[in-house]
Amino acid sequence: MAKRGRPKRSNPQAERKIFKAELEACPTCNGGLTSVGNAAHSKKTVQTFEGEFHVVAYSRLCDKVGCEKNGHHYHAVGHLQIALPGESYGLDIVAYIGWQREREQQRFAEIKKKLNQKGVSINERSVGRLYRLYQALLKGGWKKVRNRLAQTEQEYGGLILTSDGLKPDGCGGTLYVVYEALSGTPVSAMWLEVCDAVRITAWLRQTEAVNFKVLATMSDHEEALLIGLKTVWPEAKHQLCQEHYISGLSEPVHQADTQLQQSLQTQLRGLPKPPKMRGEQKDESRMREVGQSQPGQIEAQEQPDPTPSPLLLPTSF
Ligand SMILES: [Zn+2]
Repeated sequence: MAKRGRPKRSNPQAERKIFKAELEACPTCNGGLTSVGNAAHSKKTVQTFEGEFHVVAYSRLCDKVGCEKNGHHYHAVGHLQIALPGESYGLDIVAYIGWQREREQQRFAEIKKKLNQKGVSINERSVGRLYRLYQALLKGGWKKVRNRLAQTEQEYGGLILTSDGLKPDGCGGTLYVVYEALSGTPVSAMWLEVCDAVRITAWLRQTEAVNFKVLATMSDHEEALLIGLKTVWPEAKHQLCQEHYISGLSEPVHQADTQLQQSLQTQLRGLPKPPKMRGEQKDESRMREVGQSQPGQIEAQEQPDPTPSPLLLPTSF
């Protein structure tokens, strides 16, 4: 009997989307993490409404001598917003199937036909499987989610949560998903037809994550999501995320780019400081007030933090 399994895709023409671990400092020793020389921890071709993408994710590694996490790889989480772990169909397709089934009362055969018309190659059995995945995600019932969060809390002293909204074509709402970044676990998801901080806050309060200590949260600039995360986890540090991935780069270019960045940083450290301008002196005193060391970080710091955590959050996500 032929082995049945999920379709493995391979398309050399597919655009590459490369993700690096969002965490840039080791949560244990606070030292910088490195991605140079690391093999990809996830590499797959994903079918989405926007076409096929080759999605590659790189971890960062703690190489500090003496750190108990020396040699430990911290994985990227941004690629989960393209496709859930182990899936070769995009999250946008999973969301579409859920919306069509529950809101539009469509049968799997009809959904399959609509997807095929949109250029998605899928059979009815896969539509059914992805619908069950969608249900698990919305009910917060992703495989072993509670165990994974408990293990992460035990290992790192808490969770790092990241959340984002997705608005697939053909759906009347935005699907918000919250992930735990250290373990790469999808925690929960919810549809919102009107973005609203009250509803987002109510949803976050119902997720499994509220039963654990949360060290930090990450999201884009969306105000309702920001308010929700800060309301539910007021003690956690929050990091605004910028671009999620490096698009189109090949792996050798990615490695060279990382090495160039590190080499430039090392060289720049050796340069003498430029003379201070009058405005900069004011900026520096303001930085001291808010406990920052880089001028560009002033805007990202919403409030002075009197008790800085040893956890350094990523500067990009
Ligand atoms: Zn470390």
